[in-house]
Amino acid sequence: MVAATGSRILLGTGLNEARKIVAYLLSQKSVSRCEIAGSTRRMRETVGDIDILVTSEQPEKVMDLFIKYGGVKSTVVMGESKTTVLLDIGTTCDLRVIKPESFGSALQYFTGSKDHNVKVRKIAIDHNYKLNEYGLYAGDKNIMEGKDERAIYRELGMDYVPPEMREDRGEIDLVLSHKIPSLVELPDIKGDLHLHTKESDGMNTTDEMIAAAMKKNYEYIAITNHSKSLRIAHGMDDDQFMEYFEKIDRLSDKYNIKILKGGEVDILKDGSLDLENDTLKAMDVVIASVHMDTNMNTENMTDRVINAVKTNKVNILGHPTGRLINERQPFQIDLDEVAKYCSKYKTAMEINASPQRLDLNDENILRTSRYGVAYSINTDSHNIYGYDNMELGVGTARRGWLTKNNIINTMNLNDLIKFLKK
Ligand SMILES: [Zn+2]
Ligand SMILES: [Zn+2]
Repeated sequence: MVAATGSRILLGTGLNEARKIVAYLLSQKSVSRCEIAGSTRRMRETVGDIDILVTSEQPEKVMDLFIKYGGVKSTVVMGESKTTVLLDIGTTCDLRVIKPESFGSALQYFTGSKDHNVKVRKIAIDHNYKLNEYGLYAGDKNIMEGKDERAIYRELGMDYVPPEMREDRGEIDLVLSHKIPSLVELPDIKGDLHLHTKESDGMNTTDEMIAAAMKKNYEYIAITNHSKSLRIAHGMDDDQFMEYFEKIDRLSDKYNIKILKGGEVDILKDGSLDLENDTLKAMDVVIASVHMDTNMNTENMTDRVINAVKTNKVNILGHPTGRLINERQPFQIDLDEVAKYCSKYKTAMEINASPQRLDLNDENILRTSRYGVAYSINTDSHNIYGYDNMELGVGTARRGWLTKNNIINTMNLNDLIKFLKK
C-alpha cells in the first residue's frame, strides 16, 4: 500500500485513460455495466482523480482484475466496494462496484459536482424524498430501482441536466423553469478552422491534413499557418502565403472537401497585423493571435487586441488568453471589452480545443457570451491526430452553455462564407 499522490492532469489525458479502463473492464465477463463519472464526465479542464462505476455479481473478482490493469502503477486501497489505484499517467483512479438497482443514483451522485448535488438534494427534501448514492427514497421505497439517472431529475420536476452543466452556476434555476439550452454536440461540427501544415510548424503535409479531415466527414477546413514574425514556428511571409494559396487552388479540384485559405496572423505590439493587406484579402479565414510580447498590463493588452479587431480584417481571435494549463498564466486582458468589439466587428472568439489550451475556458465563455459574440471551436492541429481534440473543445463549449447557434463552424459552407465576408 502506498499513499495517494496523484496530481491534476489534463482532461485529454484523463479521458483517454478512463476510456481504456472502461473498455478493459467491459471486456471482462464479470462486469455488466461500466461508466465514467466525476469531473472527467463533466469535462472539467483538469482531472484530479478518475471515477469509474461498475455493476457486477462478483465484486472481488472485478477489483482483482482492476489492479492488474496495465496502466496501474500501484494499489492505494483495495476493498470490496471501492478500490483506489495510482495510475502511470500520474493520477489516482477510484473504482466502485454498485448494486444494479442503485446504478442510476450512484452515477448521478458520483458525477457531482458536490455543489450541484447539494442543491438537488435540497429539492428532493422539498418533495419529501431522500436522495443519496443508493437511491431516491419515498419513505422506505426506492423509486429509482432499475431507472437511469434521468429519472432523478424527472421525478423532481426538473429537465435533465447535462453533466457539463452540473457546477452550481445557475443551472438548477434554469431546469426548474424548463429553460435548459440545447447544448452543442460533436456531430454539429462541420469543419475545423485552425490547422497547421509542414509549411510552418506542423508535422504533416497539406495532403495528409486534408485526408485526415475527410475521415472526419467535414464539409470544410481552413489551413492557417503562422505569419512571419513567429520565426520559431517558421512563420510565412507575404510571398510564401500567396504561393501557398496557389497550391491550395490546385489541390481543391482533387478533393471533395472545401479547403479555405487562411493564416494565423500575429497581432503585433500595437495591434497591427503581421501581413500586407493584399495577403489578408486573399485569405478566406484570418485568425489573429497574440504569441509574443505577452507581458503587458491589462490596459495595453486589451487595447492591442481591440486594435486588431478594429482593423475589421479578423475573422477569429485565436486562443484569446494565451494560457497553457499548468504551464503559463493567461494574459492580463479585459475580456468583457474585447468581447464587445468582437461582437461589433463580427470576429468570432476561439475555443481552442488543444488539450493544454482549452482557451477560452468555460468561465470565460459564460462571461463573454453575454455580449452576443460568436465562437469557433478549433483544434489548432499540428498533426493528423490533433483533429481528435475537437471533443474537448465541444465539452468546454458545453460547460459554457453554448448551443450550435453560437458557433460558426456548425454552419454549412454557404452560411459560413457569408459570415466570413467582412
Ligand atoms: Zn497560436
Ligand atoms: Zn495555431
